[in-house]
Amino acid sequence: MTLYIVATPIGNLDDITLRAIDVLKRVDLIAAEDTRHSGLLLQHLGIKAKLFALHDHNEQEKSQILIDKLKAGLSIALISDAGTPLINDPGYHLVKACRDNQIKVVPIPGACAAITALSVAGLPSDKFCYEGFLPAKSKARQDSLLTLINETRTMIFYESTHRLMDTLNDMQAIFGVDKPIVLAKELTKTWETIVSYRVGELIEWLNEDVSRQKGEFVLIVEGHSKIDNEITPNVINTLKLLQKELPLKKAAAITAEIYGLKKNQLYQVGLTLEK
Ligand code: SAM
Repeated sequence: MTLYIVATPIGNLDDITLRAIDVLKRVDLIAAEDTRHSGLLLQHLGIKAKLFALHDHNEQEKSQILIDKLKAGLSIALISDAGTPLINDPGYHLVKACRDNQIKVVPIPGACAAITALSVAGLPSDKFCYEGFLPAKSKARQDSLLTLINETRTMIFYESTHRLMDTLNDMQAIFGVDKPIVLAKELTKTWETIVSYRVGELIEWLNEDVSRQKGEFVLIVEGHSKIDNEITPNVINTLKLLQKELPLKKAAAITAEIYGLKKNQLYQVGLTLEK
């Protein structure tokens, strides 16, 4: 009665550990997000296994079935489509339920796109925060970015082809055109690309050739430098109040004067607040 949380490759099928293969061979059942997709990996590894579908939308309900099987003495592995389960993938409810029921949960570590990207980004890696996917809707995405404006740790985001440019344009508006950023695309795959730019330069580079905008992405953004002047909630409140009475250019200039900040950055923040 053990649940194994098994990391699988994020592209290159050789990126799986010997221990992961051994566990996947030995367990009674493999719970997977997409049984067809995982079937191909298992076929590649020469593993014949019983698969059980566990998606985000049925996880809570299906977890109980798995808990009953674990209690009955079965050993089960959880895998996701790519990388480490639970990292923007299903598994949280199942692991929590196992721990609540004193069922042993064993990690089998391996690939994770966030850590893989961070390891080659050349940005501070002593302290970082994982933000996953930003919200899909523009207003909610901008609000999320505004809460990160003074984040001093390196920030890690996941992004997909169809929202990449919108996200980068919002980052440019809120973090500023000069914010250092690393884009890690298609890690471990044929078209693996890792580039370091300022946000404005990265947008230009991506617009030069739209094929660069296609793929799976990790974005790593440098944290706010403590020597920089901070855009605190007070600054944002002042800007909002002045914006109600004055044109944005004037409101940004006055707020910049009061707090000793750059008016251009405040102007960009004001534009976002206005949307
Ligand atoms: N569980 C996975 C992990 O451990 O990284 C993440 C799954 S999440 C649903 C999928 C997202 O992870 C993609 O949209 C992309 O942002 C990122 N990702 C996954 N594989 C990647 C790769 N090979 N290169 C770059 N990003 C990748």
